[in-house]
This record gives sequence, structure tokens and C-alpha cells, in this order.
Amino acid sequence: HTKDIKVLLLENVNLTGQAILRDQGYQVEALKTSLPEDQLIEKISDVHVIGLRSKTQLTASVLKHAKNLIVIGCFCIGTNQVDLKYAAENGICVFNSPFSNSRSVAELMIGEIIALARQIGDRNNELHRGVWNKVSNGCWEVRGKTLGIVGYGHVGSQLSVLAEAMGMKVIYYDVVNLMGLGTTAQVQSLDELLQQADFVTLHVPELPETMDMLSTHQFAQMKKGSYLINASRGSVVDIPALIKASQDGILAGAALDVYPNEPGGNGEHFHNDLNSWTQELRDLKNVILTPHIGGSTEEAQSAIGVEVAHALVKYVNLGTTSGAVNMPEVTLRSLTMDEPNHVRVIYIHRNVPGVLRKVNEILGDHNVDKQMTDSRGDVAYLMADISNVNTSEIKDLYQSLEDLGSRIRTRVLY
Ligand code: NAD
Repeated sequence: HTKDIKVLLLENVNLTGQAILRDQGYQVEALKTSLPEDQLIEKISDVHVIGLRSKTQLTASVLKHAKNLIVIGCFCIGTNQVDLKYAAENGICVFNSPFSNSRSVAELMIGEIIALARQIGDRNNELHRGVWNKVSNGCWEVRGKTLGIVGYGHVGSQLSVLAEAMGMKVIYYDVVNLMGLGTTAQVQSLDELLQQADFVTLHVPELPETMDMLSTHQFAQMKKGSYLINASRGSVVDIPALIKASQDGILAGAALDVYPNEPGGNGEHFHNDLNSWTQELRDLKNVILTPHIGGSTEEAQSAIGVEVAHALVKYVNLGTTSGAVNMPEVTLRSLTMDEPNHVRVIYIHRNVPGVLRKVNEILGDHNVDKQMTDSRGDVAYLMADISNVNTSEIKDLYQSLEDLGSRIRTRVLY
């Protein structure tokens, strides 16, 4: 029953998300902060759902106390704070919110393109220090300039539409062949993009292949007097090579929002203890440094609340794993669950030979309307809608599935 579902929300999860969970009738306890490990272990032992942001560490040693936990919602982008493998192997599904802040990042890029072209950062710093320095040399309009977008995903494609509206010519490079929006055009190599673009922005994921994707060789391909913006991940740009390119005049400016090592919290110092080149970076002209704020807007925060809370509700009520980060994605359409004698069986199991035969022997006593199964690594997820099940038979059905050796977790929803 939904009213029996206990939800613990930590780290001030957005109110939009809290409201969606409360509307379901779940028992929601929302705390403003994360909890120290001992208190977390105590609380987590009887909840079914936990929501958190980046500070709460859900390690295997914490999760092993979470006997009733079925799902974790990361109300943020990253999921490093959760032991995803341990969670999957114990039947705990994990969701996050990868795309609710794409627009915010794209808008920041537009702000920075103009700010770099007009050297707004430096003029602003000077006047704050009381120095009047009216300059037009090396300052440009963006109309007619070429923007090169590296990674044409959620952020890159949004950005292309905004940039074209300002009269920029847009080219993009992506490992996948993608249809460009508007009159944008895909180029076939990163070098080709770098040779043509006046502004280069990076929107690729953090992967072994994207590590130091912009390094000495790539800066050498860029046009003299061009600009680089990175709001993707800190690992993507080789910063000492960027510093050199800036000192050599290849780069007329750069904006960075992400760094290989980032301070743990607000107020902490951004100096050489963190990254050995921090001071050199801070001394460069026309370089805008922001503290990983690409997705930090009120709109993005509330969109995260909605996106993750919806995923949690669909998982709790329907067993749907679409968008999960550690489980196979399984869903079935056309619910008949509200009809009498219909149930939905969720069976999470180890991915070993012979399981489906045994499961179907058990389900076969009833009428299987629909079934879907998929695996991800060692864990498999089966969803079946079955009819002709009397309420009195549900317990037996559940128990027979629980008794199979391969079982990780069984749920029967009705
Ligand atoms: P996405 O997954 O929608 O798009 C990424 C694109 O990069 C895809 O089209 C993919 O095919 C492409 N790609 C992958 N490897 C590539 C390679 N080696 N070369 C060229 N293209 C490659 O991701 P997104 O939502 O657009 O986010 C892009 C980046 O921005 C991610 O790294 C994300 O973590 C980061 N991000 C940062 C902030 C911030 O606050 N600064 C906020 C949101 C996202």
C-alpha cells in the first residue's frame, strides 16, 4: 500500500520533488542536511525509498543495513556517491537526473561567448578595483562568427539553436552521426572543427576517450585569437596546455566551469593545493572562472525534483526502471493492474542459466498477459503482468519466486 511506503529525503531535496512523493500518500521525512554515517545507518534500516544529493555516501557498508530499501533517487546528475554495483546486486534500483539542467548550461554558454568576445570579465575586475579602461581593440561582435560545438547531445544541440539565433554559424563534431538543428552542420573530425571555429565549446561526457581531449596538439589546430569554453567535465581539457595556448596568444580567452579537482564546498580556497597550476590560471587575461555553476539555476533544481520524483513513483508503483543507472531498463505498457485478479510480478535475479524456465513454471499456473526481461551485467530484471490470480494466491506466488536460488528481490504489485 502506498501509505506504507516510507521515504527519507536528505540534503534539502527540492520541494517540487517532495510534493510529488507526498501526493502519492507515501510517508515522507525530509531533512535539510546529509547525515553522519551512524545516523544514516539507523534511519536507512526501515525506509523503502531514499532521496539524496551529492554529499550522502551510500557505500556498501551503509547499504547492507538497508533491508527494506528498493530504490535510491539521486536528485542531481552524479551518482559516484552511491555504490551502484552493490545496490544492483541487492535489488536496489538507482535513478538520477541527467538532463534537467541542459538548458541552463546552454544559456551560460551564450553569456560566456559574449563575455569573452567583449572581455567583460577583465573590464569588470578592473572597474571593481577602481580602474577605468575603455577598450575596443580585440573586442568583437559574435554575429557571423563560427561556433564549434564538441558533443552534440542535450546541451550541445540546445546551444546550437540559441547561437544561430544570434547570427552565429554553427558547426559540430560528435562520434555519432546526428541531424543538425536549423542550418548547423556536422564536421567529420575534431581537428576540422578546431581549424574553422572562432569559439569552441565542449559538451562531451567524462570517458577514457575524452580525457585531455583538448591538449597541445589540439590547441595547435585552433585559429589564432579563438576562444575555448569548457563546462563539461574537468578531465576533458589539459589545463597546462590551455595555459600555454593562452600565453602564446592562440587563445584570446577561455571560460572554465569545471576542473580536474574541485573544492568540496563553498568558501573553500581555489589555490595550488587543489591543482598545481591554479595560480597560473588565475593570472591569465580574459579567462572566466566559475565554480561548476553550469546547471545551477532555480529552474534546473525544480526540474530535477520533478524528474527524479516521477522516476521514483513509477518504480515504486509500477516497477518501471526506464532511466535507471544500475539496472536494465524494463517497462510494460497498458496496465491492467487496477482490474481484479491482475497482478504485476517484478523478479530481480542473478543472471544465470535456467532462471526463466523456473520462473515461467511458477507464473504458468496463471495467464501471463505480458512479459519483459532484460539483463545488465550480473543482474536481470523480469516484469510480467498476469491475470487470473486470486488474492489468496498472491502470497504463494510471491513465496515460490522467493524460494528460487537465483532470486535477488521479488515484488508483487496489485
Ligand atoms: P549528452 O550525453 O546528452 O551528450 C554528449 C554528446 O557527446 C553525445 O552526443 C555523444 O555522442 C557525444 N560524445 C561522446 N563521446 C564523444 C567523443 N569522444 N567525441 C565527440 N563527441 C562525443 O550530455 P549532455 O547532457 O549534453 O552533457 C554534456 C556534458 O556536460 C557532460 O559531461 C555533462 O556531465 C556536462 N554537464 C555539466 C554541467 C555543469 O554544471 N557544468 C551541467 C550539465 C552537464
